[in-house]
Amino acid sequence: MAVQTLRVHRLELPTPFPVGSVNAFLLEEDGRRVLIDCGPKWGPAQQALEEGLREAGVRPESLSAVVLTHGHVDHVGQCGAFSRLGVPVYAHPDVAGWLHPGGPLDEYRGAFFRALHRAMGTPEAEAERCLAELFLMSKWNDRSVVTHPLREGDVFPVLPDFRVLEVPGHAQAAIALWNERAGVFFGGDQVLPHVSSNAFVEPEMGWERGDLAPRTRSLLQYRESLRRLAQLDLGTVHPGHGESFTGHRALIERRLREQEQRRAQFFDLVRRNPGATAYTLANLYFPRHRDQLQLILSETLGFLDWLEADGLIESHTGDDGVVRWRAV
Ligand SMILES: [Zn+2]
Repeated sequence: MAVQTLRVHRLELPTPFPVGSVNAFLLEEDGRRVLIDCGPKWGPAQQALEEGLREAGVRPESLSAVVLTHGHVDHVGQCGAFSRLGVPVYAHPDVAGWLHPGGPLDEYRGAFFRALHRAMGTPEAEAERCLAELFLMSKWNDRSVVTHPLREGDVFPVLPDFRVLEVPGHAQAAIALWNERAGVFFGGDQVLPHVSSNAFVEPEMGWERGDLAPRTRSLLQYRESLRRLAQLDLGTVHPGHGESFTGHRALIERRLREQEQRRAQFFDLVRRNPGATAYTLANLYFPRHRDQLQLILSETLGFLDWLEADGLIESHTGDDGVVRWRAV
């Protein structure tokens, strides 16, 4: 039997976002070529991706598949260009909504976040500014579709040594591809080498309107996904940002510990500020990141939900519809 060798090229693409560059990966095996993630629809990123593919001798239309690890714009913005060439797009089925800027998911998320900000005590004008910023992101996105949904346990049919893992946390609709035999793991933003990944709060899907949807317990899900990955012999991790690395267990343990330390600090903060809103707590905990309210509110809610789930704090919704926390 012929020996098949898998080749992995990391294509580092610039982005206009604070995160810096994003990785796309080109996989080649036995004449099949797969692109994992594709960067935002932004001139310098488009140019870098074109050059990377050209250097590897790959014409975009000859790709066997594009795989999207999750729906964030820095990973999916250029997807439309490939799908218009007829390249199949593989992703978690719920990534589809993220590939339609200004579409129904944006409307659902908009209604959800407006209601969330109101309940968390964000002043009206600040909430509106925050929402406007959120949807500005769609200018780096493009319309596309998921032609081939991938779910937990699926074999990736284009490169059948790869298996699909669902890894909710950083995003709800998030998958990883793992080739156990070759020891290569593509995990999107699940485990990053240099920075901790955010567990973004999202609306639960399937409600009539976004403002009726409960929020996801993203941080708790994220920790569960991390613990699961720590038990697997992943091999080399190819992350969504930063360089590829091995030794994911030690890194995951460190991330879990950092979260536990942060949780203790949040508990202390709630104890010292009884009856505070999530908006107030977010600004107290992250005084230097007040301009990134969407992010710090999401982070704060992650810890409040965790503490509440463990019975250490409780929340109470007032007649004004605003939620306030206190230690039990
Ligand atoms: Zn992401």
